Amino acid sequence: MTSALLFRDDAYLRTATAQVLAVGDRGIELDRTVFYPLGGGQAGDSGTLTRADGERLSITDTRKGEGPDRVLHLLAPGSPVLQVGEPVTLELDWLRRYQLMRLHTALHLLSCVITAPVTGGNIVPEKARLDFDIDLQQLNAAHIERETNALIRAGAATETVWITDAELDQQPDLVKTMSVQPPRGAGRVRLLRIPGIDLQPCGGTHVADVAEIGGVRVLKIRSEGKHNKRVEIALAAP
Ligand SMILES: [Zn+2]
Repeated sequence: MTSALLFRDDAYLRTATAQVLAVGDRGIELDRTVFYPLGGGQAGDSGTLTRADGERLSITDTRKGEGPDRVLHLLAPGSPVLQVGEPVTLELDWLRRYQLMRLHTALHLLSCVITAPVTGGNIVPEKARLDFDIDLQQLNAAHIERETNALIRAGAATETVWITDAELDQQPDLVKTMSVQPPRGAGRVRLLRIPGIDLQPCGGTHVADVAEIGGVRVLKIRSEGKHNKRVEIALAAP
């Protein structure tokens, strides 16, 4: 019972028609979806679901289901029970998702501006953060902001690249250029490439060009433990 994950091929899709596959306590599953489920540090999407008779229900959050390519759409408490097989129209809270896409892509740049192992990360619409294994003294907010914004201003088209485990094995140089080791075993790996800047495995949603981020500011830099020095950013103009 898998869903076609439309956001993987086109992160800019805001609406889609779909059919209800399953209705459970934890959420509803659809044959296709534009809603990104919480994962890789990126918050799950919210938005609306409209029934054939025009009734609109709120999707408050989206989570991964029990298995690959399964997605649970969480409805607001007290929502009417949907019927398996009924057609619905989905619409994302686009402003929120677009902020997540811009911040998510900004973190890719941040991970290149700060050259240290990444030990954690999180993205919500208002702010995003990465944790690095680095000395706190090496993190300078003004420098990080300047370097990241220079990359944003210069602009670069992002590319999604799918690669098989076998292709990866044949190109050891590719792995060397990545800051994160790709997960193996699923047969193929999805990579995000920002030409000349970053290449790493990522299943999230990104803007088509880093210029769309507009600009970022550093909110906070603080220690969250020996191997976790946290850099928190927000969009300069949400
Ligand atoms: Zn990403």
